[in-house]
Parts: sequence; structure tokens; C-alpha cells
Amino acid sequence: MARVIAIANQKGGVGKTTTAVNLGASLAASEKHTLIIDSDPQANATSALGFPKDPSRRTLYQNLILAESIDRIILDAKMDRLELVPSDKNLVGAAVELVTMESREYRLKESVAQLRERYDYILVDCPPSLDLLTLNALAAADSVLVPIQCEYLALEGVSELLDTLMRLRRTINPSLAIEGILLTMYDDRTTLSKQVAADLRSFFGAQVFETVIPRNVRLAEAPSHGMPVLFYDIHSKGAESYIQLAKEVIANAQKRVGQGTERADQGAGADATPAAASAAAAGSGSGTSGGSDGGSTGTQSD
Ligand code: ATP
Ligand code: MG
Repeated sequence: MARVIAIANQKGGVGKTTTAVNLGASLAASEKHTLIIDSDPQANATSALGFPKDPSRRTLYQNLILAESIDRIILDAKMDRLELVPSDKNLVGAAVELVTMESREYRLKESVAQLRERYDYILVDCPPSLDLLTLNALAAADSVLVPIQCEYLALEGVSELLDTLMRLRRTINPSLAIEGILLTMYDDRTTLSKQVAADLRSFFGAQVFETVIPRNVRLAEAPSHGMPVLFYDIHSKGAESYIQLAKEVIANAQKRVGQGTERADQGAGADATPAAASAAAAGSGSGTSGGSDGGSTGTQSD
């Protein structure tokens, strides 16, 4: 049964699409059958996977609004075990048209239900807003992966977002877990990146993935060649970091199986401790004092 992971952050440009495409490709490379659902009218994941604009192509719009079978929309993403539900700008209309539809938050959940048996992972790339498209993704998902750019005020943004997610747990999806907080565009030459990473780790503890995605020009270049970074430059730091992230996601899933599903909502490290929660509750402000466990910065390569 697939694990459905929504990749969401209402802030724009934090690395959601880069993560959907490259985590997806890295999971597929690790023998996991993976579907990427592009749920953003900007269609950046669609083009990054090598599908330029084509008005005749069926997209998620046809499925969500016109109830066409999702099977007729899924494309082969030119890599073994990787498939795509594409988007295009018509999806802007979907966010509006959904408002008056019945069970408007649950349309994607219904579509995804019939796909769960066919995939190991289904990743949903969300738009930078909390509109009905994002709500559909969060209603359909088992967990949410939150990419955070290592920059000033990152901590405030992520606290707000997690509050929102907790509210959603009380309404549209009681079993929504936090897959993990992912530090992106990390630059180990800047003190700011290091401070932000240390702060996030001391507040959110094991909910933060150990893998950190560095700022890497190959990651920014690959989409214009219509391919995941794995194919564009497999030896780049960017490619290495997403392969490492895929390993971490897979390892966490295995830990969950070993420990029973109730541990699922404890975040990136299945060995999350209450210390993280109490650190957050203690709320030592948004100061930049280095956390004691800010040690695992930078990507590991093995
Ligand atoms: P939006 O909110 O608009 O959907 P997003 O959160 O999906 O944006 P991306 O499109 O993944 O963010 O990234 C924003 C820009 O930053 C893109 O140009 C992307 O190529 C670049 N980028 C993302 N991650 C990295 C990285 N680790 N190193 C360098 N550039 C990156
Ligand atoms: Mg995007």
C-alpha cells in the first residue's frame, strides 16, 4: 500500500517542486514504484519532468472537476517506476470550481484511494497557498513533508504552518502525520544557514530530517533540461542529497512498520523524544542560540 506524502508549505519558492521531482526520482531509483501528482497550476513538476506545455494533454483538472478516470491521465515519467499526473494552468480553475462542489476537500482522496495498491509512494506537489488544491492534497495524504528554506524567520513560518496542520487534523484528516521538516537551500558558508538549521533542530528535534539539501546549482539547472538531477548530474551534491533523503524516508517507513502505526506521526526520526515538544512549548523565543543537537548539518554520503 502506497504512502501518500503531500509536499506542502504555503510559502513560495522553498523547494517543494524540487523535492517532489528529485525525491520521487530517487525513490524510483531505490526500486520504489512512485507516482508524482502535480497539484500546482504552475505545472513546474510537470515541466521539470520533461513535459512542456501542451493544451491537449489531460491533467489533474480533468480528474478533479470532470471526474475522468485518473488512469487516463497518468504519464510515464521516462524513468523506470516513476509516473506522473500532470498539471497545467487550467488547474487554477479547479481551485475555484471546487468551492461549490460536493465533498470538495475529498476529491483527490477518492482518486488516490484506487491507486494505493499500485505504488509504494505517491508524492503530491502542492501550490504555494492553502487553497482547495492544497486542502485536497492534505486530506488525501498520510503525511506531510515540509521543505523549509534556511533563511531569516524560517522558524516563525514553520510554527504557523504546523499550527495549521494541527487544525487540519481536527477537521479534514485526523490521521495526518508529519513526515518531516526538510531544510533546503542550505549554504554551509553562511552563519545564517547554520543558525536557522540549529534553531529548527532545537525546536522540532527529530521531526527535522537528518538529510539537509544544500544550495546546489545543478538542482536549479536540471528542470530546464526536463529531467531530475539524478540524470542531469548524478555526482552533484544535489543528487547525492536527494538520494540520501530517499534512504531516510524508506528507513523511517521500515521503522514505523517495526513499531506499529501509532508511531507514524512522530516525524522524521521515528525515535522522536518528548524533548522536542517540550523545547517548543518552552518557547525560548526565536533567538539564534545554537541548539545542542544542531550537529548533523550537511548531507551525508556513503
Ligand atoms: P513554488 O512555491 O513557486 O511552487 P517551490 O516551493 O516549489 O516554489 P522550487 O520551485 O522547488 O520551490 O524552487 C524554487 C527555485 O529555487 C527554483 O528555481 C529551483 O530550481 C531553485 N532551487 C530549489 N532548491 C534548490 C537548491 N537546493 N539549490 C539551488 N536551487 C534550488
Ligand atoms: Mg512548486
